[in-house]
Amino acid sequence: MIQSSKQVRSLPPYLFSIFHKKKVALTAQGVDVIDLGIGAPDLPTPPFIIDRLAEEIRKPKNHKYSPYGGCREFREAVADFYRSHYDVELDPETEVLTLIGSKEGIAHLISAVLDPGDGVLAPDPGYPVYQSAIHLAHGSTIRFPLDEENSYAPLFNQISPRDISRSKMMLLNYPNNPTGGTVELDTFEEAVRFAKEHKLSLIHDAAYDLVTFGDYKAPSLLQVPGAKEAAVEFGSLSKTFNMSGWRLGYVVGNKELIRSLSVYKSNMDTSQFLPIQLAGVTALRSDFSSVRANNRTYEQRLDLMMNAFSGMNIQAEKPKGTFFLWARVPDGYTSQGFSEKMLDEAGIILTPGTAFGQKGEGYFRMSLSVPIERLHEASIRMKKAMKGG
Ligand SMILES: *Cc1c(COP(=O)(O)O)cnc(C)c1O
Repeated sequence: MIQSSKQVRSLPPYLFSIFHKKKVALTAQGVDVIDLGIGAPDLPTPPFIIDRLAEEIRKPKNHKYSPYGGCREFREAVADFYRSHYDVELDPETEVLTLIGSKEGIAHLISAVLDPGDGVLAPDPGYPVYQSAIHLAHGSTIRFPLDEENSYAPLFNQISPRDISRSKMMLLNYPNNPTGGTVELDTFEEAVRFAKEHKLSLIHDAAYDLVTFGDYKAPSLLQVPGAKEAAVEFGSLSKTFNMSGWRLGYVVGNKELIRSLSVYKSNMDTSQFLPIQLAGVTALRSDFSSVRANNRTYEQRLDLMMNAFSGMNIQAEKPKGTFFLWARVPDGYTSQGFSEKMLDEAGIILTPGTAFGQKGEGYFRMSLSVPIERLHEASIRMKKAMKGG
């Protein structure tokens, strides 16, 4: 009898696959399900990026293994992006590493750095992958709250000395999934101070770094002077350039952390397909007009939904980043109860806040990664279901 390892058997079920099963079942029954649980862009990859892939894939020299840490061109493009966007200098050789998507990198870094029993401070609510990766690395997740009253920034001085002393790492994520919370550089300054004082490695997941609205520009953690002594930042082309299926990301910052991850990965994979990395170079060296156009699309959808919510008495603050809307469930409902009601009575998939941790109780997350007509339809159905009581 073949059995999975204890660690795999005791993993919490991956939430999004549960919703996927429900969606398949309902669709088979003829229900026109509107899936607002999606965590990936619905818009296509810009054609200029596809053109570069098409060009590079025809060259036989690109059919071989990539160097383990990724090709030099991609690492230089990342370093140049950090210089032009954030005024941060990086050594492409030692301070940049290509990843097969940032999820892979985050999970493997945790494994590369943790010893059994080590704690990791992780946000609640937060991206579920953090907890699973810590579990697979035999570590323990120590959650710190992100509260609406504090605009979803961490309250560093409320983390207990015991929790701090048990921890080896701290994870942050801004613009934040699921809350849409954003921060200014002072929060990162405090984070770096906190990490250095307590000898923690600081890991920043910046998957939505360029998915922002209006005048807001998300800072990089590496803009904090001396951040590289304690921190790395993960970036991804998935959300910014609608490349989620391509699997391309990077990590930048602290040399020692990057070296650990690089050693670990060189025993697991051989980096990403060269034509994909080279297409990524074209993306990172572009004028970013495709990113601005995407953001305008998300913001129109966001405005439509914010309007609809105010007519339904659903409270939500307009986020400055990400393509998620984090909203309070109406009075009298739990997160799970409200999400179930919307699925059963309106055919809409919303993610209950509790999918991201206990602190998500009382909230739901709605993805704006569907065409505006579908969002409009969803708002009509929601309104009707709520009138029905
Ligand atoms: C989508 C997402 C990622 C994963 O991105 P990939 O680069 O596609 O692996 C990482 N972190 C958060 C918070 C995300 O929402």
